[in-house]
Amino acid sequence: METRMMNAHSPEAQSWASQLFSAGKLVAFPTETVYGLGANALDKDAVLSIFAAKGRPADNPLIVHIWDRAQMEGLCEIPEGAEPLMDAFWPGPLTMLFPRTSRIPDQVTAGLPTVAMRMPSMACTRELLKTCGLPIAAPSANLSGRPSPTTAAHVMEDMEGRIPLILDGGPCQVGLESTVLDLTRGAPTILRPGGVTKEMIERVLGQEVRVAGSVLRPLRPEEKALSPGMRYKHYAPMGSVTLVEGETGAVLALMRKNCLADRQNGRKSCVLCFTEHMGDLADCDPHDIGSVRNDREVAHRLFDILRKLDQEGMETIYSEVIPPEGVGLAVMNRLGRAAAFRTVRA
Ligand code: AMP
Ligand code: MG
Repeated sequence: METRMMNAHSPEAQSWASQLFSAGKLVAFPTETVYGLGANALDKDAVLSIFAAKGRPADNPLIVHIWDRAQMEGLCEIPEGAEPLMDAFWPGPLTMLFPRTSRIPDQVTAGLPTVAMRMPSMACTRELLKTCGLPIAAPSANLSGRPSPTTAAHVMEDMEGRIPLILDGGPCQVGLESTVLDLTRGAPTILRPGGVTKEMIERVLGQEVRVAGSVLRPLRPEEKALSPGMRYKHYAPMGSVTLVEGETGAVLALMRKNCLADRQNGRKSCVLCFTEHMGDLADCDPHDIGSVRNDREVAHRLFDILRKLDQEGMETIYSEVIPPEGVGLAVMNRLGRAAAFRTVRA
């Protein structure tokens, strides 16, 4: 199959994408979080072809994308607490789990009683969702196990020959997947941190929000994943990533020592560091993850850097860490998983 890439803003591309959705076909499209691989959420065969194109395990459910709240009628119930969050954060990078009806095919939710709903904010994507008039099920548009795509070129790398159309809307603004929030079982719980932070949700709800335990550590063998996606190996570059924490001077010294030692042993090694430390690690092939003072910049850059590590054939990678607060929680969740939570203290 030939995969075409078209400007997401062009009316011609929007109209073709809309026709493809109606015909049960797949389209990759930009959102403010990452690129999504979409299909009509009410067409079970179309949904199954998402799993096939990505090589995604069938028990990892998808997020349903809408442009207007009225589209949820007949698909799910809105639990208490959700309205003020929709008012505050929709459209935007917040996904919420709602009890679903049987109109949502089991293939979308992996048989779970809840469906994940989100209203993306990017104007051209809202336009597309409005034009096609369908709820669109869409996971990230990467091959399963690879970093989520934050540019149309990333999507092409993974999906060429597998789907007919990629809409190019430029680099994604947030660069990490949406926050997934569960309001259906007691205390509001973040299953996956993202651009809408714990602190932002707490301010709206006026109560404490929990964070699933496995966000900053591996899932224990006996532990049930609240969000099936947490079970899978994710975001892992081919090389081995080690997080280095501690006082800045000691961190930089240890990263440099390990990187240079690995090179002596014939391994291709590099470091991921803040813009402010690029000069200190100039002989370690430093990759700039953004400013130490800007967690949103680090989020925006992370997946692109993880993909580059593979292209460069890096075998060992040492990375600085950021405090797990604000968007830093989402960054450390993704970076932690990329490192299989391997951490050393300097
Ligand atoms: P992706 O769209 O690739 O970012 O993946 C969607 C994420 O949402 C995965 O981590 C899923 O496990 C999670 N998810 C989707 N639906 C549900 C649900 N009904 N219950 C719990 N987690 C869900
Ligand atoms: Mg994904």
